[in-house]
This record gives sequence, C-alpha cells and structure tokens, in this order.
Amino acid sequence: MSEPAPGRQRVLIIDDQKTNLKVLGDILRQDVDVMLAQSAEQGLRKAIEYQPDLILLDVLMPETSGFELIKTLKHQSLTSGIPVIFITALNDSSHEEQGLHLGACDYIYKPFHTAIVQARVRLHLQLARQRRMLEQLAHIDPLTGIANRRKYAQVLDLYWRSAARQQSSLSIVMLDIDHFKEYNDHYGHAAGDKVLHLVANTLKNSLKRPNDFIARYGGEEFVILLPESNEDGSRQLIEFCLQQVKDLHIPHDYSPVSDIITLSAGGVSCMPAQHQQLEAAIKPADDMLYQAKQQGKNQLRWAN
Ligand code: GH3
Ligand code: MG
Ligand code: MG
Repeated sequence: MSEPAPGRQRVLIIDDQKTNLKVLGDILRQDVDVMLAQSAEQGLRKAIEYQPDLILLDVLMPETSGFELIKTLKHQSLTSGIPVIFITALNDSSHEEQGLHLGACDYIYKPFHTAIVQARVRLHLQLARQRRMLEQLAHIDPLTGIANRRKYAQVLDLYWRSAARQQSSLSIVMLDIDHFKEYNDHYGHAAGDKVLHLVANTLKNSLKRPNDFIARYGGEEFVILLPESNEDGSRQLIEFCLQQVKDLHIPHDYSPVSDIITLSAGGVSCMPAQHQQLEAAIKPADDMLYQAKQQGKNQLRWAN
C-alpha cells in the first residue's frame, strides 16, 4: 500500500464484503485517504501499522466480529484512541447500545445513505483533528517545541513498565544549562529564550533511535530517556549530545567555566525490578547532576 498524502486524514474500512468496501471507499475517497481490510485480523494489523484517524467497522464478519475487534482495539495503547463507527445491517437498538457501550463513537445502519455517511465521517474526523491538537498543546512545551514535563511523566511510566516486563535497561538522564542565570542577567531574557530553544532542539536532533525521548523538565533543565540502552551506549550518546551543544559555540562571556554555553548532566542506567519505586530509580540521575555541578560543571556524571 502506498503512503497517504501528507495532511489528508486516513479512514480504515473493515468489512468482509468486497462490495461494501468498494461502495464505502468510493463515497469517502474524495475527502480522505481510504484503507481497506477484509477481515478483523487484517483490520487490526492495518490499524496498528497505519494509525488511521477513523475506523468504519462492520459488525457481522466471519471468525472475529466487529464487537470483538473493537474490544481489542480499545485495549491496545496504539489503537485505543482511534474513533470507531459501526456500519451494520443489525438495525435494532440493543445492538446499537452494545456497540456504543463498547466504545464506538457512532452507529450507522445499512442500507446507508451516502450523504449521511459522508457527513458523519466528516464530523468525527473533525473531532479527531481537534482532539489531536488539544493533546499536542497539552504535551508540548511552547517555548522549545519539545515535550513538556507532563508528557515526560507519561512516557517514563510507559518505558518503566515496558523495561520491567522485558527485563531491559532504561537510561534516565537529567541535563541542566550551566550558569544560565548569568546568561539571562547579561544578555537578556529574550536571548535566553532563544538559547533554550536552540539547545533543546540540538539535544533532540542528537538522539538516534525513534524511542529516545527528550522533554523540558522545567526552566533550563531537560530530561532524556533511552530505552533498551546500556550504560556504555547511553554515556556515549549523552557525551555526543553535550558536545553538539558546545559545537553551537553560543558565546557566554559571563560563565566562569567556559566562554560558551555548556551543560552538566547526570545519568543512570537501571533494570526496573517489579516492586521498585520509580522515584528511587530517578534519584541517582538527580544526584549525579548535582555532583557534576559540584565538580566544576560542563561534564557528565553517571551513577554506578
Ligand atoms: P547552574 O550552573 O548551577 O545550573 O546555575 P544556573 O544559573 O544555570 O541555575 P539557576 O537555577 O541559578 O538559574 C536558572 C536560570 O534559568 C534562572 C532563570 O533566569 C533561567 N530560566 C529558567 N527558565 C527560563 C526561561 O523560560 N527563559 C529564560 N530566558 N530563562 C529561564
Ligand atoms: Mg459482514
Ligand atoms: Mg543551570
């Protein structure tokens, strides 16, 4: 299947009848990118892989019914947020009630009217777009454009549980700009804001893997999470990040440790144990940042 055009929303239609897929596809195609699936299994796979903005789902299908499939979709983190509309020949209120109860956002009876299907799809796509915008606003730091602390808390929880499940290593790194108060005092707050933006995005662009995560923790502090990354690999990457910021050569004539903007960082690699408290796992990263500051700044310290 080819990649959908950017900006266009995507609708996945799941129905075991080829003719239904064709008719629904034809009436929606002028507004959206349409993806088709002829079974629940195929539908689930495409929903995960292509992350559609909306799913139209048939109730009656052989093997797995639409009611069964929506339960799976709503229980998986990758698909739980995708709105689902049932389109079905089961036109009685108890089935409609069941569908809505299982988390569908709408229920359309067959035989359907083209204009009504189009209007309802448009409405739910608009709602999906607004929901996504709100989510982004709630999770992005407006000054730097990277994730904020609220998002960090969510991602940390997710990565922590996943690392515990898979018994894999998670690295947590706190970073803080050195002598930033002096920078603001001498160059002004607006210049300070520009530095924060530049440093945040330089750090972000220095990360390598898709799941490496950075957030603005607050003020001039950042936090980086590296899942499935051991101590050696993590330290190397963070040293690279610190170097990338130095390579920006942002003048800081009032810093006692350097004549350019530098960072201090503290990190820890941990293998989460079942009942371990998250807070206790993060603390070493904080402690190491404190040590880095105490021991002259412009350096990375790692907990052993
Ligand atoms: P250290 O080297 O020990 O980290 O000292 P520091 O001066 O960087 O740290 P301190 O905590 O004393 O001061 C942090 C400064 O960061 C204070 C504040 O002016 C600045 N800061 C925090 N948030 C923002 C912001 O959003 N914009 C700007 N321009 N400055 C900020
Ligand atoms: Mg069917
Ligand atoms: Mg600082």
